[in-house]
Amino acid sequence: MGIEESFKRFVADIVPPSEHSSNPMVYKTVFLKITLLMVLSFIGSFASFLYAVTDFMEEDTAVAVVEFLVGVLLLSTPFIARRYRNVGALSTLAIILFGTVFIVAIFDELPEDKSSLIWLNVLPALSFILKGRRGIYWSVGYLGVHLIFTAIGGKLGVESLFDAYLSYGLITVILYFYAWMSERYREVWESIARTDSLTGLLNRISFEELLNREVERAKRYGEELSLVIFDIDNFKDINDTYGHLFGDKVLKEIARVVSRNVRESDIIARWGGEEFIILLPNTPLDSAISASEKLRRKIELCGFEDGVSVTASFGVAQLYPEDDAIRLVLKADKALYEAKRGGKNKVVNFSGRVNLK
Ligand code: GH3
Ligand code: MG
Ligand code: MG
Repeated sequence: MGIEESFKRFVADIVPPSEHSSNPMVYKTVFLKITLLMVLSFIGSFASFLYAVTDFMEEDTAVAVVEFLVGVLLLSTPFIARRYRNVGALSTLAIILFGTVFIVAIFDELPEDKSSLIWLNVLPALSFILKGRRGIYWSVGYLGVHLIFTAIGGKLGVESLFDAYLSYGLITVILYFYAWMSERYREVWESIARTDSLTGLLNRISFEELLNREVERAKRYGEELSLVIFDIDNFKDINDTYGHLFGDKVLKEIARVVSRNVRESDIIARWGGEEFIILLPNTPLDSAISASEKLRRKIELCGFEDGVSVTASFGVAQLYPEDDAIRLVLKADKALYEAKRGGKNKVVNFSGRVNLK
């Protein structure tokens, strides 16, 4: 196994189970954050040890001990993270440790070396990258801590800190806006990644995420859960006869009609080309069948131009204790297949007699 592969596996072990989403963007963001934390922890511990050695040689033992301890903690953070799988806590720990190192080191250099104040600006950068917009609390907090240490500690007068604090404040404001903008972008991208652009329904990726969650929940609380898959009949002929654009219009209209005729709590998505899927929480099989029957009729009654009528076939299945999400989909799909074989424009429910293999 190569280094890159081992690293990826190590980081993947840190990613909390809740973030192992099937949406690649969610996973990627957490993955990159953890990678950054690991790089920081290595650089930070290296720098801390280096500082500790120099300070020790300069007989600044107390500072050296703090730096050494911080170095040890920083070096162990990836392992602590792997143990507890909590990225938020890990970020907090990293910010606290880095903040401590920087503030102690800067304090130590003052008042002789005023240029060391420039290092203070690393803190807002770190806070915002790890905490997003909430980095503002950390950024402001550190400024306060620094003020207490430096000014009240008698190292420098407040007036000689003015430039350093002004640049710190400016960086904080800029980074706050940057973090805010990134969050907005992320929200927009996430919603694009979750929806099907033609119909505006959820797409398959986000549906699978919800399906897994609902199946887990239903099994844990012993709730009933049903799944419906429906597929438009002879859609290829519709496309061939009236054109692809007309086909698209049919898909949009059916998505609209179906969305309007299911319960608020039902989750509907575009499953594939002309296939749709609906998850019905707290719904036993017979209710799911009647809901499907209603939708089948609504679709049949949809009036399209040129008197074209469209029908769809439905497969319905209920979650049994021995099922997982994949098996539930497979059952509904088998039932759909039976509906197609039985002449289309039908609702068929999965019966145990059908071989799932
Ligand atoms: P069946 O009744 O057995 O379901 O037959 P069918 O013709 O509906 O099924 P088939 O799988 O043969 O064809 C599906 C067609 O759906 C083929 C494909 O071009 C069309 N299709 C898939 N996605 C889209 C889309 O986004 N827009 C349009 N217009 N057509 C699409
Ligand atoms: Mg079809
Ligand atoms: Mg199909």
